[in-house]
Amino acid sequence: MTTTSPKQRESKPWRRPTARRVRAIRERLREMYGVPVNRPNRRPIDELVLTILSQHTNDRNSGRAFAALKERFPEWDEVRDAPVAEVEDAIRPGGLAQQRAPRIQTILRELGEEPNLDWTETAPLEESRAYLLSLPGVGRKTAACVLLFSWGLPDIPVDVHIHRVGGRLGLFPEKASLERAHDEMLALVPSADVYEFHLNLIQHGRTICRPKPRCGECELRRMCPWYRDLDHRESVVPD
Ligand code: SF4
Repeated sequence: MTTTSPKQRESKPWRRPTARRVRAIRERLREMYGVPVNRPNRRPIDELVLTILSQHTNDRNSGRAFAALKERFPEWDEVRDAPVAEVEDAIRPGGLAQQRAPRIQTILRELGEEPNLDWTETAPLEESRAYLLSLPGVGRKTAACVLLFSWGLPDIPVDVHIHRVGGRLGLFPEKASLERAHDEMLALVPSADVYEFHLNLIQHGRTICRPKPRCGECELRRMCPWYRDLDHRESVVPD
């Protein structure tokens, strides 16, 4: 009989989790972090610009950049028509101003004479998403932020925390592309739970399931394939 050495054993191939399992993960996260309440801000262009400003920047700096931009140019057509150097100057606290200012202006030019995205509240979700994705430099996460935070529509932004935690929990394959992770999350998570999953997975990623995870403190470890594999490796593979 051939025996497999511990080092030759591999993790099980990924299988899409059942609805029951997704519910169990939601419940456990809920016990840890509560049920966050989404209060849609009804300002999709604000959300779009804020999300662009927040890429690769912490929330505090992007918030400062956004507030400075709005103070200097109260209307979006004023931002669009201003000299690019002035927009750059306003958003400098958020960093990468030279790239972001022209990008924001290009997007605003695409949004019509009076920049407007209010129609995304009632348009079919697929149509709104496709339109947002057609804007220069707008990806799945940014589009989902606009739809979820402006209107409470069921799209789910997958950021770096959700990508890491969701992959470890087996919500999608651990090495899934961001695009695939978005698709899997949309397929798995009931519409009513999208905001809760988004916030609680981020919270979990920031506090416990960090890049170096604190599995010993984690209430999800019994249902975590990543932990099971780790446990298996640690118990059978000598250091
Ligand atoms: S058990 Fe570890 S890897 Fe799994 S979710 Fe918890 S912290 Fe993350």
